Amino acid sequence: MEGSTIFASASPNSSPNGRVALAKVSEAHDCPVPRAEDEKPAGASETGEYTCPMHPQIVRQAPGNCPICGMALEPRTPTAAEDSRDLVGMTRRFWVSAALTAVVVLTGMAHLVSPKLMEELLSPRALSWTELVLASPVVLWGGWPFFERGWQSLVNQNLNMFTLIGLGVGVAYVFSVIAATVPQIFPASFRGA
Ligand SMILES: [Zn+2]
Repeated sequence: MEGSTIFASASPNSSPNGRVALAKVSEAHDCPVPRAEDEKPAGASETGEYTCPMHPQIVRQAPGNCPICGMALEPRTPTAAEDSRDLVGMTRRFWVSAALTAVVVLTGMAHLVSPKLMEELLSPRALSWTELVLASPVVLWGGWPFFERGWQSLVNQNLNMFTLIGLGVGVAYVFSVIAATVPQIFPASFRGA
């Protein structure tokens, strides 16, 4: 399909072919027509292919995670919109989690500064419940993408770093929930330490 023939028969905006043909001849004719490259980004993210930065053999038609390593697939033709959507979500999780974590660290370490400070404000039981309430959104919401990918790694039978993160953080969290809700099941030496 050569440009000049299509251009002669097609109206300027009737079809993609018409546009390409028009773009080809526009340089010669000095028409104010968008170049073919300008139209790419609009459709590229929806119809383009997605691949893993670590595993180029993985190619998918839609965004998702790599079935081997669990990393987010990236568009073969990167677009600014695609990158920022992922970044905005992770940045929000990071800052909310960092703020909550800072409070947990401060309450957990307060006894080093002043042994009586937290005791005067909260009973030990109330303190561990407060820390549980503050830490839960960090682990469950902030860490959700990691758990999701860790679970996928089990389903895909491709163990990767997300399996490790999900298992490590998950076990630590479950242990903490048990310790906060039923501390009496642990030996006395575990508690007042
Ligand atoms: Zn991969």
